[in-house]
Amino acid sequence: MTAERVKHIEPSKTVELTARIAELKRQGEKVIGLNVGEPDFVTPPHICAAANQALKEGFTKYTPVMGILPLREAICRKLERENHVCYTPDQITIGAGAKQCIYAALMAVCNPGEEIIIPYPCWVSYTEMVKMAGGTPVLVPCREDFSLDAEAIRNAVTDKTRGILINTPNNPTGAVYSGEALKELGQLAVQKDFYILADEVYEAMVYDGAEHVSIASLSESEEWKDHIILINSFSKTYAMTGWRLGYLAASLEVIGAVNKLQSQMVSSIHSLSQKAGIAALNGSQDSVADMVAEYEKRRRYVYSRLESMEGVNCRLGEGAFYLLPDIRAYYGASYGEWEIKDDIVMAEYLLQEAHIAVVPGSVFYAPGHLRITYAASQAELKQAMDQMEEALEKLH
Ligand code: PLP
Repeated sequence: MTAERVKHIEPSKTVELTARIAELKRQGEKVIGLNVGEPDFVTPPHICAAANQALKEGFTKYTPVMGILPLREAICRKLERENHVCYTPDQITIGAGAKQCIYAALMAVCNPGEEIIIPYPCWVSYTEMVKMAGGTPVLVPCREDFSLDAEAIRNAVTDKTRGILINTPNNPTGAVYSGEALKELGQLAVQKDFYILADEVYEAMVYDGAEHVSIASLSESEEWKDHIILINSFSKTYAMTGWRLGYLAASLEVIGAVNKLQSQMVSSIHSLSQKAGIAALNGSQDSVADMVAEYEKRRRYVYSRLESMEGVNCRLGEGAFYLLPDIRAYYGASYGEWEIKDDIVMAEYLLQEAHIAVVPGSVFYAPGHLRITYAASQAELKQAMDQMEEALEKLH
């Protein structure tokens, strides 16, 4: 018999789909996976070398709960250098990826029954993590072009609002929020006294001259900054998903609460990953630039292919590594036994008929869309787009 709380939590649909595709591949099916939000690159060698060296030196013990000091110092330097925001090492804590950091932050600030506003389309885990923390997710739509709708957010604020969880650059839309919109949000948070949890894991992936603005850098006062909980990770920027390394930057009060929880939940984060994280931040950033340049080519390619497919409408997001094409023009179309009644059926159709795995948009509160990851090789992307085009042409 399991606990009541688990009954109200959905398992991660994207993690489930990843497991299903892995199983199909294991059985010998030729599926091209454009479903996983994961760089297809390996972790750069100098980062792996640092972990190897730490292993050789026997750096295999528990570390402090909040992470080793040189890593937190490296994070502070990075935040100052790249995000133009100053934190001290005691305002940083390390977690097992951004995912675990977000959960710990929600546990630290959200009382049972309080509300966390989430602009949508949004990452699949946000609503469930809010529920796990005892809070109530309040979904607020973004504008048609996936930008933040400050007015709608303002109208959603109640006396129970404890925070807003934003993600820029955005998964699944690729939107990069403007400095003006973020500033408005920051002012609202101070005025109404709630937290902004800013998930910036895709910050390195911005294209066409778009600029990632960290909301903390817009702070007009210390009070302003204390209302922000900045969350970032090594997973996407450095192709380090398996290392499970992320971090939080926040006020001493919030970090203290997170550290208390982490001391009971995880004791400390993987020691070798922390050494790898130092090398990632302090070392050359050339591999990041190379990866981003490659994503940029793929983004243009996939976008142009989708755009040329009849009935597919796609917005070219400026960030992350996702496109979210609208496929509603196919609703009611059929082929053989298939009748496309929604994005879930369309994703299943593409899996079975085109052998490509994409995620139904409804998983991200974007029904009628498909989320396509372009973190795959150019050859795979070409083949996937050819197969998708062919499968769509069969639908009438
Ligand atoms: N936040 C967003 C928006 C994501 O898309 C993901 C992973 O897909 C994460 C956080 C989790 O990142 P990490 O691997 O650091 O836990």
